[in-house]
Amino acid sequence: MEYLLETDNLTKKYGNITAVDHVSIKIRRGEIYGLIGRNGAGKTTFFKMLAGLCKPTAGTFSIFGEPPEKTPKLRDRIGVLIERPGLFYTLSAYNNLRIQAIALGMNDDEYLHELLREVGLAEYEKMKVKKLSMGMKQRLGIAMSLVSRPDLLLLDEPINGLDPQGIVEIRELIERLSKERNITIMISSHILEELSKIATRYGIIHNGQLIDEFTHQELLKRCSEHIEIRTSDPTKSCTVLEQMGITEYKVVDKSIIQIFERLTESGDIVLELAKNNIKTLSIAVKNEALEDYYLAMTGGAKQ
Ligand code: ATP
Repeated sequence: MEYLLETDNLTKKYGNITAVDHVSIKIRRGEIYGLIGRNGAGKTTFFKMLAGLCKPTAGTFSIFGEPPEKTPKLRDRIGVLIERPGLFYTLSAYNNLRIQAIALGMNDDEYLHELLREVGLAEYEKMKVKKLSMGMKQRLGIAMSLVSRPDLLLLDEPINGLDPQGIVEIRELIERLSKERNITIMISSHILEELSKIATRYGIIHNGQLIDEFTHQELLKRCSEHIEIRTSDPTKSCTVLEQMGITEYKVVDKSIIQIFERLTESGDIVLELAKNNIKTLSIAVKNEALEDYYLAMTGGAKQ
């Protein structure tokens, strides 16, 4: 089967608020899909619907090609960590996993120890959760979501609030789970920069709507080096560029032209524009930062 997860116009309304608005996403096996959106964009609500924690107002979704309500056991094949893990703080890391295993009707102690090793908590298995650092709690939360041996992992903002070291550890763990266990992962964040280091594909969610989707390669291309040029006549400038055989360009804010090819030929471009009576007001080679790209997509200042 081609897609492990497929949503079709998935929608959730809370009274007048449309938290998730007709979102259709298809995720292939083995992908790490980054769902990016600001606070309140609808990421958590989207995950909650997939995890069966809230009911869609409209739309459908299927996991492994089947609607989950028809095959409730399918839910075990999804591991979920939404916001903060639900942990018993006065119990040890190991006992938290054990409770999860019992709740799922599983009895494989060795696997629980293996999970603790996998998330780097083997030395701390007897330590009470309240003594673990935030990053450790988050990794334990991921171990909890792996108890059912899922094929698909939904991680909602797993790096939120972590220090740089904690972020690196979670990132490495996610990469390992993807490579070594072949788990398909959907991870949300409001920081595109962070996801850009691990995701293979991205979706931007804004006001509940999926406004863009692109692969890692496309992201690199969109944020890559380019010539940025302002001229006295942007429309005519585009015609001149086309005549020069330049097709990889886009016009931003109706006046700035970004050119993504022939980066060493700024001089020729200026000359050609001048021949056509177009004045170059400014020209520079720029590299758009990922966050700027994301802000441009979602329109407006950082929250
Ligand atoms: P955050 O990162 O802040 O959690 P998010 O992208 O996960 O943001 P959601 O938590 O899904 O966004 O919220 C989407 C919208 O739905 C917001 O406007 C939020 O206020 C609203 N919302 C979420 N849950 C409820 C609820 N139970 N009742 C009413 N409104 C809700």
